[in-house]
Amino acid sequence: MSLHLPTLLVVTVLAYLVFGLFQIAMWQLRREREGQLLWGFSNLSGALGGTLLCLRGLIPDFASVALANGLLILGHSLMWAGLRRFAGQPIHWPVVWLAPLLLAGLFWGPLSGNPPARTCALALFMMLFSGANFVDAWRAQRLEPLVMRRLTMLVFLVTCAFMAERALYMLQHATRPAEYAVTHPMHTIAALVALLIVTVWNLSILMMASERLANRLTDIAHSDGLTRVLNRTGFRALAVRQVQRCRRDRKPISVLLLDLDHFKRINDSHGHEAGDRLLCAFADTVSGMIRPGDLLARYGGEEFCVLLPGASLADAQAAAERLREGFASIRLRSGDADYGATVSIGVAQFLGGEMIDEAVSRADRALYQAKHRGRNRVETTETIGEGLPA
Ligand code: GH3
Ligand code: MG
Ligand code: MG
Repeated sequence: MSLHLPTLLVVTVLAYLVFGLFQIAMWQLRREREGQLLWGFSNLSGALGGTLLCLRGLIPDFASVALANGLLILGHSLMWAGLRRFAGQPIHWPVVWLAPLLLAGLFWGPLSGNPPARTCALALFMMLFSGANFVDAWRAQRLEPLVMRRLTMLVFLVTCAFMAERALYMLQHATRPAEYAVTHPMHTIAALVALLIVTVWNLSILMMASERLANRLTDIAHSDGLTRVLNRTGFRALAVRQVQRCRRDRKPISVLLLDLDHFKRINDSHGHEAGDRLLCAFADTVSGMIRPGDLLARYGGEEFCVLLPGASLADAQAAAERLREGFASIRLRSGDADYGATVSIGVAQFLGGEMIDEAVSRADRALYQAKHRGRNRVETTETIGEGLPA
């Protein structure tokens, strides 16, 4: 089987075109997708550059050599710009525009009579942009780990290595341009790799952008709009895993149910907005006092739930006392008045094989007793006579 170079080039141009239009159409659907418009133009620039390359001999050399390759590099620099925008990193616009201009100038000027030197320069530019993409993605991955970003990093690393090898190979020929054959099989391999790169680049960045969107939607679906802590759905999703882990490690796990005292009075005396601010202050106070592995969720209006992996009933009771005291000292201002509230807390330790709802329901009975016994207090399943876990 032999591969036909012009056909490969045409297929690559079509791939660039389809991915370019597809990326722009997706950006039109959701304009907040960072970087997608730049990726669209990056592909269209590659499609235009590839088209001019294919027209070699039919159009002036300036267009089919200098302009065509300048556009190919513009495709790479716009891809880099798009990835930096996606990662929230600043875009170096002078580099984005000057790199293609520099390459076009080299092709039209000093390297015009030396095809292998031109290919070497092209491969070097592509190597630099792929390397920059890899380094940027590496940095971004630490701030926002995405499974699909690992794939894009691999693709850029492979591209970078391939371009380095191609640049080295061409450098050997650059000193003897007369012996260099334009029909060398290396060109067919390079065209095939270019087609693969265009396809895998686009697919991997599209999957990476979709992963971010899915993560954001999950975050929204799992968090409370007012206090920004987990909502009941988010709490359940994470709590199940924590309970299983503690069971596997044979560690205790406890749950607190917290309900603000006489909260209706706060709304009635200071207004709903003041009530909202107190709910946020409560969530902030608790978040600041629990350990990193603990979970805080808003369970209902002014009712919250805290999961304490590794905590026995006594540990959980002590933690609940700290939270109760911490919140009681918080004062907020509303006009000339200052206001605050207290919290009643019910504590339960998970029994062997118990599901979240059952443990929460026992904590709720303890909370009920805390309210009944005067509020601003902590009651456990033990103090209300339900005994210690077996
Ligand atoms: P108790 O000590 O028995 O818990 O009394 P309470 O007033 O806290 O309990 P009750 O259930 O009678 O009232 C809860 C109040 O919480 C009523 C409701 O308007 C208020 N609330 C629920 N959700 C929100 C919210 O998102 N923002 C504000 N500002 N208030 C809320
Ligand atoms: Mg209440
Ligand atoms: Mg309540």
